Amino acid sequence: MKSGKRSEAAHRPSVAVVGGGLAGLAAAEALSRSGMLVTLLESRRYLGGRAGSFKEEATGQLFDHCQHVAMGCCTNFLDFCEQTGVAAYFRRERRLHFIDAQGKTYPFAPVEALPAPLHLVPAFWRQSYLTMGERLGIGTALRRMARLSEEQAESLCVGPWLRMQKQSADVIRRFWEIILVSALGDSIEKTSVAAARKVMIDGFLAHHHAADLHLPAAPLGQIYEEGIARSLFDRGVRIEMESPVDEVFRKSVGGGFSVSVKDEATLQFENVVLAIPGRRVKAVLSPRLFEKVPDLARVDQINHAPITSVHLWFEKPITDLPHAVLLDRTSQWLFAHGAATSPHDGQSAAYYYQVVISASHDLPSGDQAAIIAAVTRELAELWPIAASPLFARVLTQKAAVFSAVPGLEAIRPPQSTPVTGLFLAGDWTKTGWPATMEGAIRSGRLAAEALLRRYGREEKLVTPDLPHTWLCRKLFR
Ligand SMILES: Cc1cc2nc3c(=O)[nH]c(=O)nc-3n(C[C@H](O)[C@H](O)[C@H](O)COP(=O)(O)OP(=O)(O)OC[C@H]3O[C@@H](n4cnc5c(N)ncnc54)[C@H](O)[C@@H]3O)c2cc1C
Repeated sequence: MKSGKRSEAAHRPSVAVVGGGLAGLAAAEALSRSGMLVTLLESRRYLGGRAGSFKEEATGQLFDHCQHVAMGCCTNFLDFCEQTGVAAYFRRERRLHFIDAQGKTYPFAPVEALPAPLHLVPAFWRQSYLTMGERLGIGTALRRMARLSEEQAESLCVGPWLRMQKQSADVIRRFWEIILVSALGDSIEKTSVAAARKVMIDGFLAHHHAADLHLPAAPLGQIYEEGIARSLFDRGVRIEMESPVDEVFRKSVGGGFSVSVKDEATLQFENVVLAIPGRRVKAVLSPRLFEKVPDLARVDQINHAPITSVHLWFEKPITDLPHAVLLDRTSQWLFAHGAATSPHDGQSAAYYYQVVISASHDLPSGDQAAIIAAVTRELAELWPIAASPLFARVLTQKAAVFSAVPGLEAIRPPQSTPVTGLFLAGDWTKTGWPATMEGAIRSGRLAAEALLRRYGREEKLVTPDLPHTWLCRKLFR
């Protein structure tokens, strides 16, 4: 897609945003809103990166690689959707549905009349798969977690820390893991107390709307195409798809950067925002530029965790629930996508569901049939009709999210670099957030703020967090 608004080009600093994932899209949106002349270069055929869709070649249908969920605490993601005119593509749900191994459902919804964090207490109290003593113990552990210093929380691993707080194996599995593994994408034996604390306090306790779910009501690829790309185009952003950047290097004369795109001409820009995965940066930056950014030296120490999504199409609906959190099972979340056409022939009416399994290290990789059999067996124990899907597909992304291990924050680089005009973005850069759509959007906006400072413009592009209530600050600080 090429933009028509070229006439103002001479008066606006030029920026190449390399990478069309959410970090790159957010940087492009913020910079074009601030009057910069932006070119977005994306190597693939589709925008969205890891939060993207693929097209079923035989039928032309779009499917997300994996269900993505934002929460009410994702203030920058929600604002980005407003800015790009796609908020209406998302539906909000305030009620979670936990299902135990026997098939009993426990709804979990906030109480409007109570101040946060008390708004969750009645719902939490109804989770009777935990004993009363276990529920009280969780409250005590949460308060202790909140009171750890930043240094302590960042240096400790949450699994061992919970055991030190006398949280039993059952409580860890049915409460802490259920929330933390899906929010952080990796095992609690690896992730830090600081990351867990962010999820529990900012994501649940701090504000009435923090734990609201925001679910895409259309494939993400459609939202990028119909909404986000169109809005960027209208702002004058030039979007170049299938344009993998080979190298970014300093121009020999006149400052600025040369950006060489595979099999195409080398392009010239005054600024570059590199919004590609951290592990690819070394291959794309020229060795001279790479050396000048010492913060990049340890980026290859960031480890990643896999997420597996099992896509299932059934002849009939298997449950009326829009989603379910499954306790004591390998399958962690079930999402219902409603009536659809089965991709096996592109014609049969079907009901489409996705099961998401985060930190899926232990699944038999490469054995789709075994994973489908295990997941459908579990679903059929709850809903017998789920035993025989019309069609199923397994997608595993091995480097889905970075692992928020103790000490990680010291490795994540800031968005500004010592090289004038060079900026970094991506969920892996320093945002204070785990690997999420919110983290990616924040990083793009932080990169845009840093770039504007180069031109003497102190502008706040990052949307503030939801405010913590007085009571939350009192109890959990
Ligand atoms: C399976 C899965 C499930 C997830 N679930 C959730 C969820 O429910 N909620 C949530 O908030 N987050 C979730 N996440 C995390 C979220 O998707 C990511 O944190 C976020 O999308 C990262 O965005 P990004 O722009 O930083 O990186 P990416 O999405 O990786 O984007 C980088 C882009 O750069 C492009 N690129 C790379 N090299 C080049 C090059 N040389 N030239 C040009 N372009 C290049 C890539 O093609 C890509 O489009 C999930 C991730 C996965 C994989």
